[in-house]
Amino acid sequence: QVAGTLAKEGPNSPSYDWFQTDFLVTIVIYTKQKEMGLDSVIVDHQDDSFRAETLIKDYSYFIHIGLSHEVEEDFSVRVVENVGKIEIVLKKKENISWKCLGHPLEKHNLLILKKDTGLYYRKCQLVSKEDVTHDTKLFCLMLPPSTHLQVPVGHHVYLKVTITGTEIVKPYTPVSYSLFSEFKEPDLPNNKYIYFLIKIYPAGLLTPELDHLQIGDFVSVSGPEGNFKKSRLQELEDLFLVAAGTGFTPMVKILNYALSNIPSLRKLKLMFFNKTEDDIIWRNQLEKLAFKDKRFDVEYVLSAPTSEWNGKQGHISPALLSGFLKRSFEKSRVLLCICGPTPFIEQGIMLLHDLYFSKDEIHSFTA
Ligand code: FAD
Ligand code: NAD
Repeated sequence: QVAGTLAKEGPNSPSYDWFQTDFLVTIVIYTKQKEMGLDSVIVDHQDDSFRAETLIKDYSYFIHIGLSHEVEEDFSVRVVENVGKIEIVLKKKENISWKCLGHPLEKHNLLILKKDTGLYYRKCQLVSKEDVTHDTKLFCLMLPPSTHLQVPVGHHVYLKVTITGTEIVKPYTPVSYSLFSEFKEPDLPNNKYIYFLIKIYPAGLLTPELDHLQIGDFVSVSGPEGNFKKSRLQELEDLFLVAAGTGFTPMVKILNYALSNIPSLRKLKLMFFNKTEDDIIWRNQLEKLAFKDKRFDVEYVLSAPTSEWNGKQGHISPALLSGFLKRSFEKSRVLLCICGPTPFIEQGIMLLHDLYFSKDEIHSFTA
């Protein structure tokens, strides 16, 4: 688990330094990596423990220090992308000179394989909860002022709630506030809100608890997990999204991101499988978006429609997929993202291989 044993295969270990003025302490992390953004570092300052986790490929690099003096709750984070330099600027509570930054805590200055690091949680407050469909709600959680955390496109977090003494943990994929939220790159540095679309299962273990949370209650939120790389969207011409039920959630940020940041994109199509019309999440917004942006189209497929439904119906099938997956021209650069119940994803991937989509052209979302 220590840096030395991993250095041979992993990236070069980052290093850090610090300096101070009368009012500020700046911690600088030199990652020596190019693709660093504000979503590459997670910072938590709880009590006197200062923790910064920098995500570098499959590894995490930790700064974990018991600070020698008190600092204000809020701080700022800056990333100089082209050189991979991260600066965290803390405000001193007292304007005195610090002799040292503090004492090292667990994992400090180590580069560790991400899968060996365990999840780290911070308590977030429920700010709002709105009905979206008969069983799905939009939850807004607020990060503590002493946390910097931005969930990358296509990644999920774990929510943890303690129910009668037992910790229940499940993954959820943050979404944008709406399909029309401007996706600014980089995201606002002081963005404190995380949104989730969550389906409540009356007989479920965790979601009824989430449903019963009151505004102001706390939920623990982990750091981001996932293997989707935003770079897969670069230079794409056709993007196909195949979602079932809440499998729509990873598609939300992908949609926002692709439509506002990928100039080469010609066509973005969503095939959205649901049981009934009432189950379609954000149908109004999807239709408005298709009207507003000619590159975007949505098709609904219902597995248990009423007799009035005259759109597509059934389960995922070769006929439905081959009709949907029309490229804007032969050999266009294409990516297909698929998410939903496990059997849906498994059947979908099999069918896509039959339709000559290569592995590199498919991304499936799983835990
Ligand atoms: P569970 O206790 O898991 O039960 C779910 C349903 O299955 C209930 O109706 C229950 O009665 C039934 N059930 C449970 N066990 C059985 C059984 N043995 N036999 C038959 N039926 C059974 N969900 C979202 O809503 N939004 C998201 O953004 C989201 N993101 C996700 C991201 C990832 C990476 C993954 C893997 C899942 C995601 N999910 C998301 C699903 C989420 O993690 C939970 O699985 C879901 O919320 C159900 O949790 P629960 O504890 O309430 O229900
Ligand atoms: P649902 O039961 O409402 O079903 C939606 C549609 O999925 C159905 O209309 C049908 O077309 C299809 N479907 C359902 N069961 C199927 C099966 N056995 N075989 C083939 N197709 C099937 O879906 P839901 O309750 O919204 O569940 C969504 C699922 O997506 C959950 O299992 C959740 O864990 C998963 N999910 C995964 C991620 C991720 O990132 N991995 C993110 C969000 C949701």
